[in-house]
Amino acid sequence: MRKRYSAWNLLAAARRGHADWAPAWRDAEPKPRYDIVIVGGGGHGLATAYYLARHHGVTNVAVLEAGWLGGGNTGRNTTIVRSNYLYPESARLYEFSLQQYEGLARELNFNIMFSQRGVLTLAHSRHDLDAQSRWANAMRCNGIDAELLDARQVRELEPRLNFNQGAQAARYPILGGFIQRRAGSARHDAVAWGYARGAAARGVDIVQHCAVTGFVKQGGRVIGVLARWRGRELIIGCERAALVVAGHSSVLAAEAGFELPVVSYALQAMVSEPVKPVLNTVTLSPALGAYWSQSDKGEVVIGGALDHFPSYAQRGSFDITQQVVAATCEMFPTLARLRLLRQWAGIVDVVPDSSPIIGATPVPGLYINCGWGTGGFKAIPVGGWTLAHVLATGRNHELAEPFQLERFRSGRLIDEAAAAGIAH
Ligand SMILES: Cc1cc2nc3c(=O)[nH]c(=O)nc-3n(C[C@H](O)[C@H](O)[C@H](O)COP(=O)(O)OP(=O)(O)OC[C@H]3O[C@@H](n4cnc5c(N)ncnc54)[C@H](O)[C@@H]3O)c2cc1C
Repeated sequence: MRKRYSAWNLLAAARRGHADWAPAWRDAEPKPRYDIVIVGGGGHGLATAYYLARHHGVTNVAVLEAGWLGGGNTGRNTTIVRSNYLYPESARLYEFSLQQYEGLARELNFNIMFSQRGVLTLAHSRHDLDAQSRWANAMRCNGIDAELLDARQVRELEPRLNFNQGAQAARYPILGGFIQRRAGSARHDAVAWGYARGAAARGVDIVQHCAVTGFVKQGGRVIGVLARWRGRELIIGCERAALVVAGHSSVLAAEAGFELPVVSYALQAMVSEPVKPVLNTVTLSPALGAYWSQSDKGEVVIGGALDHFPSYAQRGSFDITQQVVAATCEMFPTLARLRLLRQWAGIVDVVPDSSPIIGATPVPGLYINCGWGTGGFKAIPVGGWTLAHVLATGRNHELAEPFQLERFRSGRLIDEAAAAGIAH
């Protein structure tokens, strides 16, 4: 069976009708006991398993996923990867992640289709221009690339934006903006599959359709999880467990006996029918609460704001759909005649300071990675890397040190709401 993806193997396999490729990962049956159980088979859970095996040699690990791999937010997001945050702690975290993305396809031997086409943020008023110059300058102070653009430069980059004047004048004139050129997008499910393949190849058990329903404790310490798998109730023992379940974090934390400052909201996205290349960048209008890019298939990928109320329904409400479509017609009049192909939502985990939580919980033996809200796809490599570090060594990774749950007690918040792209 062929395992490695390469031009030579592709040619050789073609001669045999591509019949001898090994499955990308083993669909394992759960064992009674593991060193580490990771709850949640999204990008962060799978990356954690991969780095546990790759960096720390810990391979007696299970990833338990209630649905299918990447079927949560990881496979539902709009795939933007950027590191344009405001505070030094966040800049270090997200820039490290962006740098991992730059080499991830090679690292995983899996084409994640990372495309550094630039993330362009639009300014529609004097206030936007001022706020964005502060934003771009903060990035530069943190050593991250950012360029302020005037209206002419924005037009050169994205000529289909609405620059109309006169009787048909754009309702939201574009006065300029700024761009992080190294930012871009990657194929989301490929990121999940690449990490799953890398982890499974090193001995990690990946168990799909296995929902964790509770925790087994001894002397207050987690020593196992309760899980439902193929209609059976199981107890799976472990030395340590990690919750990596995004929008379901507060539900499982309550099962484990502690509270999280997480509120779950639906965040939606949609794609148009595929067309020839029309968009050059990922373009974002914070004022209109919408953003656009074009996938390699040609679909225009459109995202917008959170629903206004907490929810676990993976649908997204109609008023947001309508607002995002109206913003699309306003900003890109030539896209108005495109038909929408699909619309969906994921359940994102929003915390008061829009920054993640990575580390220990108040329950001994239980660790957590959550709070990425609308922006955790870009952070999958660093989220997995830092969680694996604390799980394997018992010490926080220096990048994760400022992002402990304890900050909501001490008040050392890292408020990145303004850099969240679309407010949340
Ligand atoms: C519409 C949308 C657009 C977005 N756009 C972007 C973007 O452009 N850029 C960006 O960086 N981020 C974006 N995000 C956010 C990003 O997708 C998430 O922050 C990220 O995917 C979180 O990854 P995760 O692995 O933590 O969670 P998930 O991928 O959600 O994985 C968690 C997994 O846990 C599983 N699970 C839940 N409960 C249990 C249980 N009891 N037992 C076992 N398994 C369980 C779920 O089934 C799920 O698969 C977007 C999100 C959405 C919804």
